[in-house]
Amino acid sequence: MPHTQQQFASDNYAGICPDAMRAIEQANRGSAQAYGDDPWTVRAANAFRTTFETDCELFFVFNGTAANSLALAALCQSYESIIASDTAHVETDECGAPEFFSNGAKILVARGEGGKLTPDAIRAFALGRTDIHFPRPRAVTITQPTETGQLYSLEEIGDIARTCRELGLRLHMDGARFANAIDSLGCSPADMTWRAGVDVLSFGGTKNGMAIGEAVLFFDRALANGFDYRCKQAGQLASKMRFLSAPWAVMFETGAWRANAAHANACARHFAAQVAGLPGVEILFPVQANAVFLKLPPDVMAALHERGWVFYNFIGDSARFMFAWDSDRARIDALVQDLRDITGARLSPEGS
Ligand SMILES: *Cc1c(COP(=O)(O)O)cnc(C)c1O
Repeated sequence: MPHTQQQFASDNYAGICPDAMRAIEQANRGSAQAYGDDPWTVRAANAFRTTFETDCELFFVFNGTAANSLALAALCQSYESIIASDTAHVETDECGAPEFFSNGAKILVARGEGGKLTPDAIRAFALGRTDIHFPRPRAVTITQPTETGQLYSLEEIGDIARTCRELGLRLHMDGARFANAIDSLGCSPADMTWRAGVDVLSFGGTKNGMAIGEAVLFFDRALANGFDYRCKQAGQLASKMRFLSAPWAVMFETGAWRANAAHANACARHFAAQVAGLPGVEILFPVQANAVFLKLPPDVMAALHERGWVFYNFIGDSARFMFAWDSDRARIDALVQDLRDITGARLSPEGS
């Protein structure tokens, strides 16, 4: 049963946005060719190429784990390695799928502020061991925005890309929340990716308001060689592809992908501004996208749970709140009010 009242535990709690739903309905009028040979998939692919201002190669898959792990598998041999941040989704939340789909390429994790990799960390791995006993670094993956909602600036992406090129590494970007990053930085998708030196992008649709689906974009088309077979073998070739692709087409054409992200980001900023300074409440990371991580005393967390709020605690003793295209201001304000009540009651002796 769905929650009767909106929760902010994950941006995946949101439903399907109206434009994506309308696209599915429109794609459902009559039949169409299967496996991507349909007009909707052509329209979506062209919308991507227009939006990214380049003739990239792209593929639609069901989810982010598939997009990331198949993309990374395409960049590495089984005896090579992938440099990632220690909090990267590919490392902590994909059940070993990148290693599995690459037949054993190893993920090398580097510690970084807010989940961000640095050129120095990349260089340390790439140059630290060059002997036959160590899995040769071949790819770097960065998450934009990171799992804790931090952004790489265009300069930082450019610096990382230059480091990669210098060291013979390919650069992948996990853009599960790509649209949120675009909204925050206010730059073009091209500037945040291929113009900065990104080779392959996983672009998230699900957290942006679709029912399902991520896109994998190869800016260097040579790297996409055989990727269609990789998708099929991995069970990621949708037979009724049009239902994956139509929402992309419509959401690019109407601009909903940007508007959805802008709303989510604005909700995160609003929430953070309301809870800043509450006694015992600490905002753990700069709020640069649609995530707010709060450090809360255990009794405050318990009291929130008692009042019916659902949230995750998977990073330390923090509480994560995520905002999406459908986040309701009244519901956010109700959460803020509960936090005010709970933290205020802790301070006053009569409070219970
Ligand atoms: C949600 C998410 C993904 C995709 O996860 P799936 O559940 O496989 O769709 C990938 N990367 C990051 C950073 C995410 O937050």
